[in-house]
Amino acid sequence: MTDSCVFCKIANNEINSNIVYQDEQVTAFRDIHPVAPTHVLIVPNKHIESVNRLNSEDEALVGHLFTVARQIAVNEGIAENGFRLITNTGPDGGQTVFHLPVLLLAVQIMTHPLG
Ligand SMILES: [Zn+2]
Repeated sequence: MTDSCVFCKIANNEINSNIVYQDEQVTAFRDIHPVAPTHVLIVPNKHIESVNRLNSEDEALVGHLFTVARQIAVNEGIAENGFRLITNTGPDGGQTVFHLPVLLLAVQIMTHPLG
């Protein structure tokens, strides 16, 4: 971890957050500034700056981020109607905290589909 990384502090339970899921690999918590009725961030417990810093040994961890996202979608009751998973990467990708996030979003932001 890095001393100044807010997501590392959340994953280490050093600062209060609304955690919806946590295990030995990942932590999921509600964004403090939600842009949709469901806006959960799922992050690895170990500090990885972004997708740009992933390597082959992280493949199982990335897979786990997605299966945790799926379970949270089920728990939130949004799995069947649908949701978005977003991984902002770098400044031009909208990344503001440089610790790999997977955003789970539903429902309102989906009224303007991208692409
Ligand atoms: Zn971090």
